[in-house]
Amino acid sequence: MTLVDTPVESVQRLQEFLRIRTIQPEPDHATCLKYLESEAKALGLPFKTFYCVEGKPIALMTWEGTQPDLPSILLNSHTDVVPVYEDFWDHPPFSAARVYDAERDDHRIYARGSQDMKAVGQSYLEAIRVLQAQGKRLTRTLHLLFVPDEEIGGGEGMKLFVQTPEFKALNLGLALDEGIANPGEHYKLFYGERAPWWVKVTAEGNTGHGSQFIENTASEKLLRVINRLMDMREEERKRLLHNPDTLNIGDVTSLNLTFLKMGVQYNVVPREAMAGFDIRVTPHVNLVAFKKELESIIHEAGAQVEYVQYFGDNTLTPIDASNKWWVVFSKHCQNVGVQLETEIFRGATDSRYIREMGIPAFGISPMNHTPTLLHDHNEFVYEKIYLKGIDFYVGLIETLANDTTA
Ligand SMILES: [Zn+2]
Repeated sequence: MTLVDTPVESVQRLQEFLRIRTIQPEPDHATCLKYLESEAKALGLPFKTFYCVEGKPIALMTWEGTQPDLPSILLNSHTDVVPVYEDFWDHPPFSAARVYDAERDDHRIYARGSQDMKAVGQSYLEAIRVLQAQGKRLTRTLHLLFVPDEEIGGGEGMKLFVQTPEFKALNLGLALDEGIANPGEHYKLFYGERAPWWVKVTAEGNTGHGSQFIENTASEKLLRVINRLMDMREEERKRLLHNPDTLNIGDVTSLNLTFLKMGVQYNVVPREAMAGFDIRVTPHVNLVAFKKELESIIHEAGAQVEYVQYFGDNTLTPIDASNKWWVVFSKHCQNVGVQLETEIFRGATDSRYIREMGIPAFGISPMNHTPTLLHDHNEFVYEKIYLKGIDFYVGLIETLANDTTA
């Protein structure tokens, strides 16, 4: 009997990965690359780095299959993590502290990025380690991509990388990317995302002394827009509220007023006013028609629109018999007793750039019975769930890579 409780090596490697401070807005890419390169070396995989923008490395490892001409499989993850409010953490967010949870008879590994999404990235590596130890050779080629900036929109990473000849040369058939931890028994499986639009609305109008009824003011124009959009918000909110069995948040369009700026002095009617909206457009609507409707509301009110962020594609990855990858994927999950809950992602991930290129992508993080803590204080993963997740990928990757029907 030993009193020293050392975790297994796959957990130790996860801790090492979690301790690297890849925190936005200045992630430690250099240390992260060194770590990934050492992992590639340990697995005997060629390691390449690409830069679409200086200082934003995209790392690629490749495990060539026996039939490298077949469309390959991408295992995608981002290495960056969101900032922390360190005072609210029970354990330092980059300590990867391993804490025993007696109630669950399991350990928690605390770290920013543990759920989102380093445990997933490390699980891909561990699954390949296991397959290699079993002496396996897979039919299709696997590519592991580690991207640097998903948490700030992917604009200097995946968004640009999908446009390069190097991306095209990967000859992808299917991509796996992140999902979300789930407190229930299911693994959540995301097959589409809402389009994130950050909309800046500005209005100009007559100004003058605040004691009069001045016509055509900037604030009146802006209020017309705000009222119409808040009505739209309320309709969507009610639609979601009244259909809990059939709709998830990804099935409706959410809309929030996130900026409001005007005014110079109490007795001066302001000449300019500005409102900012965070709109997440469900893929169930026609984006072109929705944009037209939005702009007509704004223009009718006498205001102007500017898109601070805009995404004009809402391609879904089919989850029916028309998508052979889905057939293989879902059948495998059934065979190993994994229950899936399919959903449209409420936020946005790098998968949207992959789907935009016409490549099917499934977002999944094999973390069930785990509170959803991405971007929250005290983010952690359960050790046993992480280890089960590795087993899940071992079987899934082997099945997907050896299937030649898709
Ligand atoms: Zn993420």
